[in-house]
Amino acid sequence: MLNKRRSFILVAASSLVSGFAIAQKPSQNLVLDSDPSAIALGYVSDVKKIDTNKYPQYALGQNCAACTLFQGTAKDADAPCLAFGGKAVSSKGWCSAWVKKG
Ligand code: SF4
Repeated sequence: MLNKRRSFILVAASSLVSGFAIAQKPSQNLVLDSDPSAIALGYVSDVKKIDTNKYPQYALGQNCAACTLFQGTAKDADAPCLAFGGKAVSSKGWCSAWVKKG
């Protein structure tokens, strides 16, 4: 009886741990700043890294979370972007294809 209870507790604990690991897993399909497609669109994963001399159209408050091509919610750290064929971008990022969410 004790062994059955111990086994149940171990299985339950291991399920919790693996579930947490899945929930914490970073996106596998994240666009990197160094990707050729990112460089072509001036994508940066953090708006603080924008070269405003090269992209003077950038304005304060613009970021991926506020872009109509961002397929996530304001709460998502990253989400697929239509400009990158559905690969995920950071909600704090930006690129020259930015369009205000309507
Ligand atoms: S198109 Fe919008 S959501 Fe996609 S990377 Fe550019 S700014 Fe971010």
